[in-house]
Amino acid sequence: MIQLFHVHKQYAGEAPALLDVTLGVEKGEFVFLTGPSGAGKSTLMRLVFCAEAATSGQILVFGRNVAKVKPSQIPYLRRSIGVVFQDFKLLPDRTVAENVAFPLEVRGLPAREVRRKVDAILRSVGLELKGGKFPLALSGGEQQRVAVARALVGDPALLLADEPTGNLDPERTLEVMDLLHAANARGTTVLVATHDRSLLERYKKRVVALERGRVAADGAEIRRTGRA
Ligand code: ADP
Ligand code: ADP
Repeated sequence: MIQLFHVHKQYAGEAPALLDVTLGVEKGEFVFLTGPSGAGKSTLMRLVFCAEAATSGQILVFGRNVAKVKPSQIPYLRRSIGVVFQDFKLLPDRTVAENVAFPLEVRGLPAREVRRKVDAILRSVGLELKGGKFPLALSGGEQQRVAVARALVGDPALLLADEPTGNLDPERTLEVMDLLHAANARGTTVLVATHDRSLLERYKKRVVALERGRVAADGAEIRRTGRA
């Protein structure tokens, strides 16, 4: 589903954000990407989403070398990827329901179908009463759940979530994690960046730990040794 081979990413005038990262994520996996702030988690996700290009190395997403995907083809690749950005990236001039509907409308789904799916996903994130509100009228935690709903509404093959529970209280955190699990059970491959160790301890999933741009550990045993 995702393969990185010796990937380096260097922003101008900075220490490398990613350093010789080789990593594979199989179809159907649920993987936590962890590590301290600045370790390179967001950068890795942006590379997979084609929001940035690697400085060197190779990245395959759905078996396609992203460096060879034409800019005009990137939107098609992204249709199969749901993303929860750290800063949500909700459209401020559209309602919650319109924000969530957006990925379906881009695909040209019939209006009835869009409405049905949007209603269902808003219910599942507990926002069925907020569909007509604008994002800025919502709390940070509610905006985060809108972002999760938008990422999941199209049943993406791959979900990239950058600190999707970062602004949520423990109860809402579990609800969002349940949604990610349910999506994974339906076949979505899930990659979650988090520095919340309690999540890693609670869910027995593969953990890839980044440290200063390198893969410092990869596997289920990181939980037990507490190195994540
Ligand atoms: P994390 O998500 O683990 O906090 P990031 O991928 O955001 O890590 O950052 C990795 C490193 O790359 C940090 O040193 C950060 O300052 C730097 N970085 C991230 N984005 C940019 C950017 N757009 N321009 C320059 N440096 C960046
Ligand atoms: P975090 O490090 O908390 O994961 P992000 O990587 O999401 O934060 O960064 C937030 C925004 O700031 C992104 O648009 C990123 O490109 C930008 N950014 C991060 N670090 C730098 C940096 N050192 N210089 C310039 N832009 C940066």
